[in-house]
Amino acid sequence: MNDNSRVENVIIIGGASAGYTAATYTARAELEPLVIEGFQWGGQLQNTTDVENYPGFPEGIMGPELMQKFREQAERFGTRFITDDATRIELSDGGIQTVWVGDDEYRARSIILAMGAEPKRLGIPGEMELGGKGVSTCGVCDGAFFKGENVAVIGGGDSAMEDSIFVSKFADDLAIVHRRDEFRASKIMEERARDRDNITFKTPYVPEEFIAGDDGKLAKIRLKQAETGETEDLEVGGAFVAIGHTPRSELVVGQVETDDEGYVITEGKSTRTNLAGVFAVGDLVDHTYRQAVTAAGTGTMGALDAEWYLRDVPPSPEAHWSGMAGEAQPEAHDAEERAEVSAK
Ligand code: NAP
Repeated sequence: MNDNSRVENVIIIGGASAGYTAATYTARAELEPLVIEGFQWGGQLQNTTDVENYPGFPEGIMGPELMQKFREQAERFGTRFITDDATRIELSDGGIQTVWVGDDEYRARSIILAMGAEPKRLGIPGEMELGGKGVSTCGVCDGAFFKGENVAVIGGGDSAMEDSIFVSKFADDLAIVHRRDEFRASKIMEERARDRDNITFKTPYVPEEFIAGDDGKLAKIRLKQAETGETEDLEVGGAFVAIGHTPRSELVVGQVETDDEGYVITEGKSTRTNLAGVFAVGDLVDHTYRQAVTAAGTGTMGALDAEWYLRDVPPSPEAHWSGMAGEAQPEAHDAEERAEVSAK
């Protein structure tokens, strides 16, 4: 059992680019962050091989190694980790934030939500087994590995169009495989994809299986024509599954403001949510960019927003009398400033 009388300065939920960066910054600010990093920490990069677009690594780096380095950097400045999944979160507007990991309860004056998003999967044979061996969920990350190959992008939304336009710069022929004849993508994105000479549209087809060749890498996709039910194999060296993302906001939906798709809404360019002391960063708030470096960037913003919040808002009596919170934090200068910060 943990010591649940302690009130932390900041708890960070999520152990990947955004969460670890927030941890490094808050640790260097001497806030002694506690990261509940998840049993399978490392996020989407944990399932990635080469990362060639993370600044500072001109030779590239393996995804899991990059995450290990992020974690070590946070640890170096005193971050503490719980390598398990948060099971319940009770958010407060300006009060004590409470997180449970099973029966263990953790409390803090501020919380940075960094649970990320998960790419949606087709759920067909070969999809997970061939991850990193031809099947990818990120065209921008992996497109350049398929120079001169025939590839497919699966999906009919803006992500599929964007991935296709990017990957078609490297691939020989690219087929956009979509289960309907109509596209969910914006007209302009669809047009841009149609304008490219090496992109063809294959509709209405439903992927049924990713099949490996003798070398263990993706060789073809079994497709079913949605109307006739006939199957055929499409020979490809790469396949990008671009059918959307699901933000991992399930523990906080209904408590903090989210949009229709479940992404946490933040105020302007900040990481502040509609609840004082609750900050959200990384893919949990990001429909669009979803890169390790952008997630790390917002992790930094979350750490600074939390630091400023803690600096300006005095500990609640509960936190104060527990004797563990805010010791290094000067109190807000006057009541007006406190009210202003609390209202954010
Ligand atoms: P999306 O709009 O939800 O599109 C998902 C696509 O995948 C749909 O065409 C859907 O088919 C298909 N799909 C879903 N599940 C499938 C399955 N099991 N099997 C086969 N196909 C499946 O997702 P998104 O493209 O990621 O876009 C999400 C949001 O981000 C949108 O608001 C989008 O505009 C935005 N976004 C914008 C940009 C940009 O502006 N540059 C780039 C990326 C994303 P159905 O249509 O048949 O349901």
